[in-house]
Amino acid sequence: MKRFLTWALLALFSGTAVAQTSIPETPVVRFLRENPRRAAFNTHSYEFLPIQDTPAPKGYKPFYISHYGRHGSRSDWGGPQYRLVRDLLAKANGQHLLTPAGDSLMHEAAVIYELHNGMDGRLTPRGVREHAQLAERMYHRFPEVFKKGCKHIRAVSSTTPRCIVSMNGFTGRLMSLQPDLDFDLDTGEKYYAYIARGENSTLTARTNKALAEYRKTIEWDTETVYRTLFTDPAEARKLIPDAVAFQNAIYDCARVSDPFDIPDNMFRYLPFGNVVKFHELNFLSAYLNQCDSKLNGEIRLPRAQELVDTLISQADAVISGKVRKAADLCFGHDWPYLGLVCYLGLEGVSERYTLEEAAANWLPSWFCPFAANLQMIFYRCKKSDEILVKFLMNERETKLPALEAVQGPYYRWNDVKAWCENRIPKTQIVAHRGYWEGNAQNSIASLRKAQEFGCWGSEFDIHLTADGVPVIHHDRTIGELDIQGSAFEDVRVNRLANGEPIPTLAEYMAQVARSRECMAVLELKPQTTTEREDELIEKCLQALQPAPPRNVPPEFAAFARRQEPTKVVFISFSHHICKELARKAPGYTVQYLKGDLSPAQLHADGINGIDYNFSVFYKHPEWVKEAHDLGMTVNAWTVDDRKDIEAMRDLGVDQITTNNPALVREILWER
Ligand code: MG
Repeated sequence: MKRFLTWALLALFSGTAVAQTSIPETPVVRFLRENPRRAAFNTHSYEFLPIQDTPAPKGYKPFYISHYGRHGSRSDWGGPQYRLVRDLLAKANGQHLLTPAGDSLMHEAAVIYELHNGMDGRLTPRGVREHAQLAERMYHRFPEVFKKGCKHIRAVSSTTPRCIVSMNGFTGRLMSLQPDLDFDLDTGEKYYAYIARGENSTLTARTNKALAEYRKTIEWDTETVYRTLFTDPAEARKLIPDAVAFQNAIYDCARVSDPFDIPDNMFRYLPFGNVVKFHELNFLSAYLNQCDSKLNGEIRLPRAQELVDTLISQADAVISGKVRKAADLCFGHDWPYLGLVCYLGLEGVSERYTLEEAAANWLPSWFCPFAANLQMIFYRCKKSDEILVKFLMNERETKLPALEAVQGPYYRWNDVKAWCENRIPKTQIVAHRGYWEGNAQNSIASLRKAQEFGCWGSEFDIHLTADGVPVIHHDRTIGELDIQGSAFEDVRVNRLANGEPIPTLAEYMAQVARSRECMAVLELKPQTTTEREDELIEKCLQALQPAPPRNVPPEFAAFARRQEPTKVVFISFSHHICKELARKAPGYTVQYLKGDLSPAQLHADGINGIDYNFSVFYKHPEWVKEAHDLGMTVNAWTVDDRKDIEAMRDLGVDQITTNNPALVREILWER
């Protein structure tokens, strides 16, 4: 996860001098007082405290470990903030204004700047060490798994270098401890669906708005820093008028010092109250974007689904004896890790809080430091063959409060699977013509809103102009103008209700690419001739490869360029278009809209989905099961009323297409 309080945000702080009131002694504040370095929140280096294992029930022995680990300590992104501290202090030094503390901070900021120069997001030697030590402790803690059990270990990493190096640190130590272990290591974008799924940068808009409100309530100490770092506070204030922005840059230096083994606690340069507030602003952003909060609702759990499914199927393959493995090791990032532990409902980390409650109670550097990890240790009873599992979050035994334990932290694997099975609604939400409430249908703004809301997908309608440009519009006509019979330039001059010009498919797909999560549901409108329908199909397939959007981090650029079957669904009322798409775009979901054909008839044409008006499913409820038995997906449109939403949910359709995503979400989560 990258820095949440970006350098640009510094400008939002005002430097007004306000006397800071005393800090309430919340669990978070007590936690920071115990070890001030924890104020680094998710850039806190891994903290290992000695652990006592609860003995397993009699007759049970560990035989398999499933592990998901975040990469170890790394450098951060940026540089300007470190340089700012270094340069401002150097300037003050030129005027003989620095106290010994100011002098010491100037040198440390210079070191931090140099260490980051050209090394954004790279694993540090400490990060490698963290994973090697984790491996060593795992090995000695569960010797039965490695020494007497199967010798095969499968490890998979996100493609990001810091994760690959973490995997090497971990597995390298296991190899050195037991040379006869046999490893299978891999990385690749195909693993992204479960290793690194879950980030949604578009959510930060809502989060930032809430944080901006929260920020207004903060009282900053803008005096102390001038007295501790400078011999003449009045002169220093002339040099550095914005005390809060300056202190935030110092906070940034301090929170990246641990990964480089800088022995000094650099938070000491700031008043403790300010450290608490900088910590809050940073981690609340992470909490709101990565966990299910009261603000954002249950938007995160669905994104951990693939990871949970993968871990369950890997474990089941070993339990059934189909696959022989001592361990499955995954190396990834903090957001999927948080999604996973929240999905499981592990104690402490999974609570849903308001902003204020989270600020007081949620412990980011305890739950999600560098090298944060979840280990699921599987135990088998030789006599009964029953399987138990124990969850270690950052190596600490952790409870799953929703389930009854057999003993201590040991749970029946079948109970855990049943819990996961019913954890989230099976039906997904598709915003009909985007989430257009307060906007215009089929506008880019409505697509963006669907992405921000966390809709599974967003539907839009595509017509082809007479000169062959695919444009996004529902009706075939705009006033008197027939889109299919008009040139693009005549269509383009028209505006949507929100002032946007009629979007082209290329423009729309550029916005599609800005979310890694939200599916694009492309409705290809029937054309006057099959030749034109074929042309529209070609244009839509070409549009799956748009130019990479701006502002996408390099590691995601490849992902953003290619709109794969996991990102796109095609729908159409034209049977010809559906048949052709099924033939030309294998692997993609194609759903037929008209409602006049049974799933079996469509399946015979190679079409793998239906998207019917909900009234069709009232007449033919058996089509849902028929489609599912044929491996087809089922979508229902346009479902806006509570009774129909409930009926479609209970029928078990895969998607509900709606003009009211908020109501559908509310009803789906009521179960
Ligand atoms: Mg439509």
